[in-house]
Amino acid sequence: MDPPSVPCRQNGTDHRTDQCCLKLPTALLTRSLLALAIALAAIAVPSPSPAAAAGMTVQRFGGADRFATAATVSANHFTPGVPAVYVATGANFPDALAGGPAAARAGAPILLVARTEVPPATRAELTRLRPARIVVLGGPGVVSGAVASTLKAFQTGGGVSRLGGADRYATAAAVSRATFGPGLATAYVATGLTFPDALVGGAAAARAGSPVLLTKPNGLPGSTEAELKRLAPTRIVVLGGTSAVGDGVLARLRTIATSGTVTRLAGADRYATAAAISAASFPAGVPALYVATGLAFPDALVAVPAAATSGAALTLVPGSASVPRVIRTEAARLRPGRLALLGGMAAMNERVTFDLRVAVGDLAPLPACAYKDVLTRFRGYADWQRTLVDTILSVGSGYHPGDLVDTSKAGLNAGHATRSHVVADLKAMTDAARAAGRPIQVSSAFRSYTTQQATFDHWVAVGGYQQALRTSARPGHSEHQLGTTFDFTSLGGRPPWEYADWAALPAGGWMAANAWKYGFVMSYPRNAFARVCYEYEPWHYRYLGRPLAAEVRASGLTLREWLWLRGSG
Ligand SMILES: [Zn+2]
Repeated sequence: MDPPSVPCRQNGTDHRTDQCCLKLPTALLTRSLLALAIALAAIAVPSPSPAAAAGMTVQRFGGADRFATAATVSANHFTPGVPAVYVATGANFPDALAGGPAAARAGAPILLVARTEVPPATRAELTRLRPARIVVLGGPGVVSGAVASTLKAFQTGGGVSRLGGADRYATAAAVSRATFGPGLATAYVATGLTFPDALVGGAAAARAGSPVLLTKPNGLPGSTEAELKRLAPTRIVVLGGTSAVGDGVLARLRTIATSGTVTRLAGADRYATAAAISAASFPAGVPALYVATGLAFPDALVAVPAAATSGAALTLVPGSASVPRVIRTEAARLRPGRLALLGGMAAMNERVTFDLRVAVGDLAPLPACAYKDVLTRFRGYADWQRTLVDTILSVGSGYHPGDLVDTSKAGLNAGHATRSHVVADLKAMTDAARAAGRPIQVSSAFRSYTTQQATFDHWVAVGGYQQALRTSARPGHSEHQLGTTFDFTSLGGRPPWEYADWAALPAGGWMAANAWKYGFVMSYPRNAFARVCYEYEPWHYRYLGRPLAAEVRASGLTLREWLWLRGSG
């Protein structure tokens, strides 16, 4: 039977008080979550080995906008004096994607322009590259004559040419006609209406030395058909399911492929299709895997020729959501030596890095919630930023930093201790909260091993051992023992765990929005039990310093995951 009132936190209580929160929703959830925790512990997991040393290079190519991202991708893959640069509109995807395999064949990057303007980032990269010639993709309706004229200043003798047609289908055909001769082994056909299939297929086509031509779902455009007949490929690979390229188009293509063979590479959604294309096109042991979001095209428009410089595969992920199983399985098969993320943290955060590194075996999986006593890897006092303590990992019984000072040094209420290097940012945050009309105070800060023992024992007495495990930490396992961790509440208010959700109060809400700016991270956010192994604690903040706190926030990971990703634990 659940106790009538549920003890609060790891830390929940200052053991000096008998205050206890009454969290009814938590109480109602307790039994099922406890069952889950027991199940997880039962199937678990050997003791966590230290996260694998970072053997895999992870690169991220992102800029302030699509033009800057394209310039960054180019700058990291191509050296000055390139034979050509392909230039496409950044406003839509078909021309750049059709240009991908052609640019790859020419050893050329793709850069992006606006219809009537060459953006500064593009100009700067063109200046650096000094290309022999420049190829404009698309008609004057998408890249104006004035832009083409402007580009002349950046070529070194080969001139500026244009490959364009009346529409996206004709432009793709023109690009192919200018690049690929007849008698190809394979030609690829994708829908011209959405970008994911043509993008991933572009990497496959570049590897095969083949074009990607575009079609409407229910009819093969005349320009596409004429170009395919000229190419006379032995076989044709259709990218995507029947809603992207209908069976009628497939039947038509069978009459064009000289062997009569048309293969469809498709899955249930764009991610499954991407995995199917990759699996059919790239061998295991690729040098790199390029990763683009499947939610929007701008960051990936120029990926194909860049990936092709190293024979890399390309895949899609759903932004910052967990990487789908089909993609993780394909990544594991590919065993890339390098990950290249296309786009900034807003497009794809570190969830993607975490999931893919685990998938390929470069990072040990985050241990499932369990209760053990394993000494954490970094437990020196100088390791305070990377020390991972959780329900498994412990700092041991002798951990007691010697540089503690009273929290009154930071303009807060006295009677609690913190490490001296925390004081400046703690004071800045306290002052800012007060200035914002959201003043805070400390409910708990540093705890010694013996204090944590007493705290935990208290909660065992109140709610039983199993409940105490969920809401308090066994000695050695509390972040409070680091001397860099705090439970805050509203100035003059009750202990924070007495509120249903302290983050819904003015001071707690201010902290949730602003604490990271001063170097503090909420360790146990809402709905994260399976990842952090503690219930939601909107009052519990750990100091990491401003740069790392900003990194944790941008990463989209919980602190436990972020530390694990960086090799703590
Ligand atoms: Zn706490």
